[in-house]
Amino acid sequence: MLIASPTGSNICGRCIDQAQQIVKDESPGESQSFSLFSSLEEIPKPVEIKSHLDAYVIGQEHAKRAVSVAVYNHYKRIMVQEDVQDIDLEKSNILLMGPTGTGKTLLARALASFLDVPFAIADATVLTEAGYVGEDVENILVRLLQSADYDVEATEAGIIYVDEIDKISRRSANASITRDVSGEGVQQALLKILEGTVAQVPPKGGRKHPEQPLVSINTKNILFIVGGAFEGIEEIIARRRKKTLLGFSSFEEEEARLKGADLLEVVEPEDLLQYGLIPELIGRLPVVAALEDLTREALHSILLEPRNALVKQYQKLFELEGVELVFEEKALAAIIDDAQRVGTGARALRRSMEKVMQDIMFDLPDWDKIKKCVISKAVVTNGKQPRLS
Ligand code: ADP
Repeated sequence: MLIASPTGSNICGRCIDQAQQIVKDESPGESQSFSLFSSLEEIPKPVEIKSHLDAYVIGQEHAKRAVSVAVYNHYKRIMVQEDVQDIDLEKSNILLMGPTGTGKTLLARALASFLDVPFAIADATVLTEAGYVGEDVENILVRLLQSADYDVEATEAGIIYVDEIDKISRRSANASITRDVSGEGVQQALLKILEGTVAQVPPKGGRKHPEQPLVSINTKNILFIVGGAFEGIEEIIARRRKKTLLGFSSFEEEEARLKGADLLEVVEPEDLLQYGLIPELIGRLPVVAALEDLTREALHSILLEPRNALVKQYQKLFELEGVELVFEEKALAAIIDDAQRVGTGARALRRSMEKVMQDIMFDLPDWDKIKKCVISKAVVTNGKQPRLS
């Protein structure tokens, strides 16, 4: 194909391809959409990482700190691993424990966007050992490769979040008769990519395209964050502590003091082992951070404060139609009440909010000369019309 310029000269398609290749080869830095760090100084310090996380994740101070340090160390380790030969710096993969909807995925996602590295989320429950019906563990890497826009170098420094890791414990696998694959096999498969291996992945994923050439991905420097609710592990922890503290009269006092996230905070590898994670996998998750149940105050802040807070999002949508949207304090409280009844942490907030706003949003584009819309408690609890003016 010949393409003509306004000045009368022509260029053929093949020359365009060639020229594009030259530009790409000559400026590798520019053709990459991900800017990986090139020196130690460029890696953001834990304080900077945490302050970015603060803009998105409410509360969870301990987890944010732990993750910030782990991530800083992770990229530092990648940077210096060629120079440091006398000490083996180990990868700091992270285990996040805490109830659903408390911000585990959000934390991982906020982290990746700040660091400008590729990020992928996988659900451990759909993973199976190779050869079984379900998703091969390698498919996680495919997703990361895709999110890196097929840039292998960027992929190899990316972050992967594996959700519901607790659901592939031996314990939960045994409890289910519908599962034909034991959680242990999946844990083994996951372990392999967690500890670092060169995996051959089909770039399009799946087994549907057997003809595609495989891409090698070294997982040595990929940071894995795994998360789970670990329901029931509190009892295991408490039981162990009781045993070791036997004879100490202050035990009961301490027992009463440690609850929820505080108890998760003192989790030991042996508790995870008893929960049904294999020891090798536990060994590869040196950083453990607990997330706590969100209080009413935290839910209130989540509605209003983060960069992508729900209230801010709706206000923006209304503003685009020239309407100011106001939530009365009691309306917010009612939305929180509704969300707390569902009990899936902050996740339920969106649902409760949507329930209230759907009908209003339906009518919004047809409003004439309306400048302000006030949502009162009655709108939330009784489906009343909002006050318009
Ligand atoms: P999980 O702990 O189950 O992974 P998610 O991170 O997916 O929970 O949370 C679901 C949604 O709830 C998030 O997208 C976010 O909007 C909100 N959310 C949860 N926890 C927090 C938090 N601590 N701060 C701000 N928003 C949160």
